[in-house]
Amino acid sequence: MTGGGAILVVEDDSGMGRFLRDALSDSGHRVQLVGDGRSALRVLGTERVDLLILDLGLPDIDGMDLLRTVREWESNPLVLVVSARGQDADKVAALRAGADDYLAKPFSLQELLARVEARLRRAAPTPSQGVLVSGDLRLDVAAGQVVRRGVPVRLTPMELGVLHELWRHRGRVRTHREILAAVWGPAFTAEHTYVRTIVQRLRAKLEDDPAHPRWLTTLPGVGYIWQEVPVPAQPPR
Ligand code: CA
Repeated sequence: MTGGGAILVVEDDSGMGRFLRDALSDSGHRVQLVGDGRSALRVLGTERVDLLILDLGLPDIDGMDLLRTVREWESNPLVLVVSARGQDADKVAALRAGADDYLAKPFSLQELLARVEARLRRAAPTPSQGVLVSGDLRLDVAAGQVVRRGVPVRLTPMELGVLHELWRHRGRVRTHREILAAVWGPAFTAEHTYVRTIVQRLRAKLEDDPAHPRWLTTLPGVGYIWQEVPVPAQPPR
């Protein structure tokens, strides 16, 4: 998708920020640049943002706290974390807190643009319509909404993507690679951590006991299955 994405860049290094803003604008996106967390929250609270590009090291609010705050709100932008913290543990923590993608500094402009395009393309509405029902869960594909026992559950775009992919193939195993290719894009099939953390987030939101999932089960070393019939609940011990 070229053009049409509303992107908010949160980066306190002004040289880096301007570089990102200009490159993304040249690619046809509408870009706003802010240098601190408070300004970012102000924009996110008042304007539509499709994609948030978030530096974790900010002068006022820790980027991880900002990310958690954003995920509690109605507005649910895609979040690409761009960080100097390059350890696996940092990446996992950001994904758990609700990031959709993670790029460690230093990175190439080409890599960043490829990820932005992939994220915005994948977030475009899916052509499939209809309502899927699994037990007490109801997924309205067109509206992108999940209702559990009559209560709407807020899902991020990538959570919805993974859930939709599993539901479309319910009762059958989907491998990590298949899920990654379908939801993140063909260039992301090695990013198993992405699937694992999104599955954890989905279980926390949709399962009664996330540690003993009855719907979203694991086939160890292979992938995940959305069960057509829930596995029996664990007996109380
Ligand atoms: Ca910084």
